[in-house]
Amino acid sequence: MKYLIKNGRVIDPANKIDDILDILIWDGKIEKIGKLLSDKAQLIDAKGMIVAPGLVDMHTHLREPGREDEETILTGTLAAIKGGFTSVACMPNTEPPLDNPAIIRSLKDLIKKNAKANVFIIGSITEGRAGKRATDLHKMKKAGAVAVSDDGSSVDDEAVMLSALEQSREEALLIIGHCEDRKLSASGVMNHGFTATKLGLKGISSESEYERVKRDIELAKRASARIHIAHVSTKESVDIMRRARGEGVKVTAETAPHYLTLTEECCAAYDTYTKMNPPLRSEEDVEELKRGLKDGTIDAIATDHAPHTDSEKDVEFDFAPFGIIGLETALSLCAMELVEKKILSWPELITKMSVNPANILGIERGSLKAGSVADVVIIDPDKEYTYTKDSIVSRSKNSPFINWVLKGKVAKVFVGGRLASDSG
Ligand SMILES: [Zn+2]
Repeated sequence: MKYLIKNGRVIDPANKIDDILDILIWDGKIEKIGKLLSDKAQLIDAKGMIVAPGLVDMHTHLREPGREDEETILTGTLAAIKGGFTSVACMPNTEPPLDNPAIIRSLKDLIKKNAKANVFIIGSITEGRAGKRATDLHKMKKAGAVAVSDDGSSVDDEAVMLSALEQSREEALLIIGHCEDRKLSASGVMNHGFTATKLGLKGISSESEYERVKRDIELAKRASARIHIAHVSTKESVDIMRRARGEGVKVTAETAPHYLTLTEECCAAYDTYTKMNPPLRSEEDVEELKRGLKDGTIDAIATDHAPHTDSEKDVEFDFAPFGIIGLETALSLCAMELVEKKILSWPELITKMSVNPANILGIERGSLKAGSVADVVIIDPDKEYTYTKDSIVSRSKNSPFINWVLKGKVAKVFVGGRLASDSG
């Protein structure tokens, strides 16, 4: 099918484009981009809309294999598309974990069969994600992993992390650090501080995150390797990364929409949909994360989409699993919290949600240049809607944003030139 998207505000930061232009899509690729194109293609009127490269989520839990009751490759990629993401990178804390080439290859087969969006695989840093022995990164990369992470846990053993980082440099395979010192976070369930004390809940200190950020950056420096820090939530972490970048350390970072929109106060009703790891922090942390996004210390916004069933979440706060879904709300939340409030411009937001994550992972996405794969999102920036539980496409419904009125809605999504979603 041939499509001609007309009159949209084309935002293609990778090619420094922000202009009213037309885009011709043909044979899965961007055929042409320019002014006043005409062609016998199916016309799509994008007047008043933003046309951008499909979003890339570098931190998604698809739960397959092992927890198909929470999410599958099919349902997770349908949720991704609904939220404007044409590519996701899936985390390895599945059951069993993605810690060897054979399981990565078999997951690739499943993706080929069931995925509706592009799925890139993140393997684990250590065998069984147990933190004891690094996996063979050469073989992991050959099997198709685009990065490695023990997400859900940090690699506590310094020697193991250092050897993984050395391998990572040799293989040019990125390590993504889940930065948490369990000795410090212990059995906490929400941010450490006055609110936790008031609620009678055990706290997770900021130190448990930023001390590990500091250590991982130090190890990366020693190994002359790159490191990417996942889901940054504290102001101290931002400060540490800012200084490290100033010294030339190759550190990149992401935060998630919920760390920009919610604070620890949201835990006051003991709603388990506000329980995540790292936890929701204080207002000052939120402000510093926004500064970090603005000044480039934080390169990317990723969802940390973490599906859990109602029966898992429908327990006391202390016992509920950590995490919320995020693919279907990320773009609207960021548009409202960052663009509307003039912290980022639209081109800057598209950079954080498409261009940078693609570049960090080294995948050929995030560009609308002629000849690129036609992964395109069309956004209606002014459209308001209520995010209802019934509307959720993900198999799990664990979102604290249910019944929020959101603004900035995905209208159409093309994946590889195919119209994958069309809601106006
Ligand atoms: Zn994590």
